[in-house]
Amino acid sequence: MNSRSAERWKVVVSCSESRPSFERFPTAPTLIQPQVVVFDLGKVLLDFDFNKAARALAGDSSFSADQVLGLINQTPLLHRYETGLMSTQEFFYEVRGLTGYRRTLAEFCRQLGDIFSEVALMVELNRYFRSQGLPTYIFSNTSELAVDHIRATYPFFSEFTGYILSYEHHVMKPDPQLYEIVERTTGAAGGRILYFDDRAENIETAHRRGWQVFLHDRPQDTLVALRQSGLVP
Ligand SMILES: [Mg+2]
Repeated sequence: MNSRSAERWKVVVSCSESRPSFERFPTAPTLIQPQVVVFDLGKVLLDFDFNKAARALAGDSSFSADQVLGLINQTPLLHRYETGLMSTQEFFYEVRGLTGYRRTLAEFCRQLGDIFSEVALMVELNRYFRSQGLPTYIFSNTSELAVDHIRATYPFFSEFTGYILSYEHHVMKPDPQLYEIVERTTGAAGGRILYFDDRAENIETAHRRGWQVFLHDRPQDTLVALRQSGLVP
């Protein structure tokens, strides 16, 4: 490792001190010019807080906010919905049956969708890549309900070349099948893809496929590392 890449290594590792597994992805500190850029959505372009939805839904059901959270946050039920194995209406009926939720499907979608906030630095980063002529993609484990809400609420969502969304393909990250779909959709593979995600297990599959990977944590740290690599000014 030369001194310049050692410096990059230090920067990237220091922005992920709480994530020692990052050390398994040594490609990140030596990022090179990609052909396409792929962004995860949650905790990269958008922050989200399931607690907010849990409190709202609990107010109209017989469940406590904690109980609602235990039902909708990273659970088998959410997994089934985000894999497109159940429709939005089926998901609603399931939650309603379990919690005694008393409001309409439209209200449910509004309360469950209203959990996001835009990560301005990362949205700007996408704009920069696009201004340089780079195609960019959103690659996300997500649901129809979330995407409908995000599309209607956040104009930046339309600023990408394309979208690979788990519920449309009936498979979720980190299943390699979804990464193959990214490669087919973008027409790129291996190191020509630069990929940002906040979850190590999602990064790991990409790393095994030879993509350039970056385990994202704080936006300002990601930006510093990209500057160190010369990918952004
Ligand atoms: Mg994420």
